[in-house]
Amino acid sequence: MHINGSTTIVGVFGAPITHTASPAMHNAAFGALDMNWVYLAFHVEAANLRTALRGASHMGLVGINLTIPHKILALDGIDEIEPEARKLGAVNTVSMEKGKLRGYNTDGYGFIKAVKEDFNLSIKGKRVLVLGAGGAGHGIAVKCALDGAAKVIVANRTLARIEPIAREISGTKTEFLALKLAAEDIRKVIHEVDLVVNATSVGLEEQDSLGLGADLFSPRLHVYDTIYRPAETELLRVAESAGAKVANGLSMLLHQGAKSFEIWTKRKAPLAVMRRALRAAIYGEKP
Ligand code: NAP
Repeated sequence: MHINGSTTIVGVFGAPITHTASPAMHNAAFGALDMNWVYLAFHVEAANLRTALRGASHMGLVGINLTIPHKILALDGIDEIEPEARKLGAVNTVSMEKGKLRGYNTDGYGFIKAVKEDFNLSIKGKRVLVLGAGGAGHGIAVKCALDGAAKVIVANRTLARIEPIAREISGTKTEFLALKLAAEDIRKVIHEVDLVVNATSVGLEEQDSLGLGADLFSPRLHVYDTIYRPAETELLRVAESAGAKVANGLSMLLHQGAKSFEIWTKRKAPLAVMRRALRAAIYGEKP
């Protein structure tokens, strides 16, 4: 990488931000395509998001990814939001063109690509159980409905948080059900779903447990955990022990990043390079 006066800058805003693997993924892509671009991580507190985005735009940055705590906050204060990002309830990618901020959601796209790649599963006509109704759960549940899922069930610890998701899905043809996130409630519906998605933050810590036993899972189920660090959460361990097909969130991270890359650069993302860089940054594998 050779930074000079004409290097194009993109990056990610978050708080905290030091653990992000996105710089490794994007800078590997720029290197592979011999582009004079650089991707940097910026610690930006929630209260400073708007100022930082405007400042970045004035400084000539052309794109910013948003992570915790900015994805939902960014729905206000951006000039134009893509209709899908508004429906998914979050913005994770901003492009700056001619001083105008445009917000996108590439997490939903990343999820759909991930389950296609990991399970060869198309969401159309499928029945999906989403655990969690935070930013990730909202985006995944609504994206499944927009992509033609037959049924979406959302289970969350806090039931009230499911309401905006229910409102959004009520405008689609997808059947919807809200549930309390508890083993006895999950047991009543899990036999009818094709795909279970963990979109809670339970599993980020090694000792975390959703309390779902192996008896709930079977070989016909696909279980996707949006968590990628650790590589195997308790949910994936338990589901795999019951014969279910399992995958972790690295593929979603990769494909949301690839889509952001394509929005900013208008070039095809070098997926293999980006995947290797991610695996090196997150799991310490040799790139
Ligand atoms: P968030 O908005 O803070 O939502 C957190 C979710 O976890 C809520 O549904 C929350 O339930 C639930 N939760 C937290 N602690 C819980 C507990 N002890 N028991 C039961 N439920 C609990 O976070 P987010 O942005 O949606 O992120 C959620 C997960 O998605 C994170 O693990 C993140 O790493 C992952 N993610 C992955 C990707 C990827 O590219 N792979 C992208 C985005 C997010 P309540 O509503 O009841 O609090």
